[in-house]
Amino acid sequence: MNNREIVVASANQGKLREFSQLFSAWRIRVLPQSEFAVPAVAETGTSFEENALLKARHGAAHARHPVIADDSGIEVDVLNGEPGIYSARYAGAGASDADNLALLLRNIQAAGARHPSARFRCVIVYVRSPDDAEPLVAQGIWEGYIVDKPAGSNGFGYDPVFHVPSHGCTSAELPPLVKNAVSHRGQALRNLVELMKEAKAFE
Ligand code: IMP
Repeated sequence: MNNREIVVASANQGKLREFSQLFSAWRIRVLPQSEFAVPAVAETGTSFEENALLKARHGAAHARHPVIADDSGIEVDVLNGEPGIYSARYAGAGASDADNLALLLRNIQAAGARHPSARFRCVIVYVRSPDDAEPLVAQGIWEGYIVDKPAGSNGFGYDPVFHVPSHGCTSAELPPLVKNAVSHRGQALRNLVELMKEAKAFE
């Protein structure tokens, strides 16, 4: 590996594609963590940042190279910010996207709310080594509200019920490139690239 390569601590193909697109403009190659046989790690943090850092340091320890890792989820105000960091396992360990989404709609209905405000949040971190004392941490936030009738088939997770006011549709109805341009993950990634440039992570 030369010094213009970064390992991404994720097995999600969509994320890998997004990260590759952004870093290719900077002539940096993005490699999946799977190439380094990195074992799974429990996400035991209590914030998006803690979980992202935990995944990044774990990845760097095994891959022995700089790593970026992200953690993301959806926060619904009427549910006091739930499911938040538990978004992927809201309906229990191993729950499907459909189970999580159905539970979210049930809980919103039980709270007596209609179209409650919500946001997707994403934190992406970059570490040069497992014990990097100055990790770079970037965040992106995407505001919207939850609709009770799922619509659209793009994306994943909670996209079919996340209404995007600026576009007048759910995020599952947005073409992928449009979603990347405005989403929490796209914003966080662009913010991270700026931090990496300032820190001269790559010349
Ligand atoms: P993780 O960041 O891979 O741990 O995933 C967090 C969970 O948050 C996902 O499994 C989804 O349920 C939810 N999530 C995060 N980003 C998105 C998104 O862009 N669309 C829909 N759901 C998302």
